Amino acid sequence: MSRLEVTGTGVSPGIAIGEPVVYETRPVAALRIPVPPEKVEEEVATFRAAVEETVRRIETNAARAREEMGEEYASIFDAHTLIARDPSFLESVERIIRTEQVNAEWALDQVLGELVARFENLGDLYLEDRKLDVLDVVTQILQTLRGQDLRRLEGLDHPVVIVADDLPPSLAVQLPLEKILGFALEMGGPTSHTTIIARSFGIPAAVGVHGACEAARTARLVVLDGFEGKLVLDPDEVEVKEYESHRLEYEERQAHLAHVRTLPSVTRDGHRVELLANIDLPIEVNAALEWNVDGIGLYRSEFLYMKASPKLPSEEEHVAFYRELVERMVPRPVTIRTFDLGGKKLARDVIGSPEANPVLGLRGIRLCLAKPDFFVTQLRALVRVAGQFPAGTVRIMIPLVSGVEEMRITRRLLEDVSRELREEGHEVPANVPLGAMVEVPSAAVLARQLAREVDFISIGTNDLTQYTLAVDRANELVADLYRPSHPGVLRLVQEVIRAGDAEGVEVSMCGEAAADPLMVPLLIGLGLRKFSTNPQAIPVVRNLVRHLSYRETSNLARQAMALTTAREVEEYLLERLAIFFAKIKIHV
Ligand code: PEP
Ligand code: MG
Repeated sequence: MSRLEVTGTGVSPGIAIGEPVVYETRPVAALRIPVPPEKVEEEVATFRAAVEETVRRIETNAARAREEMGEEYASIFDAHTLIARDPSFLESVERIIRTEQVNAEWALDQVLGELVARFENLGDLYLEDRKLDVLDVVTQILQTLRGQDLRRLEGLDHPVVIVADDLPPSLAVQLPLEKILGFALEMGGPTSHTTIIARSFGIPAAVGVHGACEAARTARLVVLDGFEGKLVLDPDEVEVKEYESHRLEYEERQAHLAHVRTLPSVTRDGHRVELLANIDLPIEVNAALEWNVDGIGLYRSEFLYMKASPKLPSEEEHVAFYRELVERMVPRPVTIRTFDLGGKKLARDVIGSPEANPVLGLRGIRLCLAKPDFFVTQLRALVRVAGQFPAGTVRIMIPLVSGVEEMRITRRLLEDVSRELREEGHEVPANVPLGAMVEVPSAAVLARQLAREVDFISIGTNDLTQYTLAVDRANELVADLYRPSHPGVLRLVQEVIRAGDAEGVEVSMCGEAAADPLMVPLLIGLGLRKFSTNPQAIPVVRNLVRHLSYRETSNLARQAMALTTAREVEEYLLERLAIFFAKIKIHV
């Protein structure tokens, strides 16, 4: 084994040292492996078993979809079963295995090539879609053949570093996270959802690590440096020792922050800042409680769906889940965001048909209003749970709001749901706080008008940055352009804070910028008083707040807002804060 290094961008701090597990979602070139004549029938049987297992999985998904979402959704899966069972497709693969005496994976790859070429020659848009279906099914069979089932990881007896080309959040949440030492991903960006999960769990991660899968395929040991975004393959002993001591040093620094756990988050000149937690998975409540947060500022409820995908939770499942969550936090407020499905958070199994631009498509509140059945189920559950706790404990937050109309429709739906529940004999509170996320530029521009329609606002800088700068938050090719510190984004943030002040409406921030040590002083200076961050960042932000002076941050913000580029803003903040950060041991 010889040492090799591939580099991307560090997105979750820490060092991981361990055995790599490579996971590739895209079809990779198959290897042609000759099969001895006496083993050919065994190879055919392996292929048939893989097809049957894939069909079983598709049918389970179809049955769930039919039950929960209706015939329209289930038909996608039925089409997939037909493709997998197609006799001419199966015969073609088996013929190649037998005549060429080769492995099933190679034979399947050959047939796939022929099918795709045939579809392409026909040049028909409808057939273009069928081609995607065929690709989808064949990829599933290939993955079954390769034994790439992530569930196998649950049986691992030692922790591993995941090296993947792309790891959608729906897959990431199915991993046994306690066994994951680190993530090295070829795709993704600083605020893509898998990155957010890694940060929430304190798992070191790097994205944009091109060539990571190829390089890691034969490696026995890897080091993932989440600070520098580096993946080192088969390092020598000396290097491993160096990284080990770097890891320990970082962990000691983190442990040192434990002393701020019970201290108030107040600046040196007495300005109080509330610290809330963003959580994606229920287990994160432990960390939120451990770090003594003021409440949950964002529960991303779509993760409830992702775990069970494509099944949608029933009203009772929603109720049981939220009740348990709120019981653990009460009397602290819990802000539950309604499903933010669509975009990159969901495969097309719920939406029905693929979208060319899913991030600009049927996502968040748009999808909820377009398919109100599952939205109403969730609203009913939220109102029922709100009725079981003191007023104001449960708060409902709406994602991807682009203007006042969506909030008006949602409020009407909420009133209808409340009336129905009251008639059914449920305990229903007079008012469940209803808030909007501001993460679409139009909502930020209209913040004053929006503030009059809602009980609270939370700024989602992850999407606000993406939509303001037209930079895909999960695309490593434009990761350099993704800058929450861009004056265009900062102006919108400032507008929203001012609008909240003018209208007497609470404004918080739940985007990742709220956890960025460089941004926190600037945001405090802009007047932001509520920060919702991943639980691991709470002690860092609390420690930082306690060392700041509000007067100084106001001055800092005034100067920063006069600058004209993201680079100028970042350089200015770094210059002003570098010595201060070094003194309080903050790593930026
Ligand atoms: C955001 O966009 O800033 C946000 C908090 O929502 P999400 O990251 O879930 O899109
Ligand atoms: Mg968002």
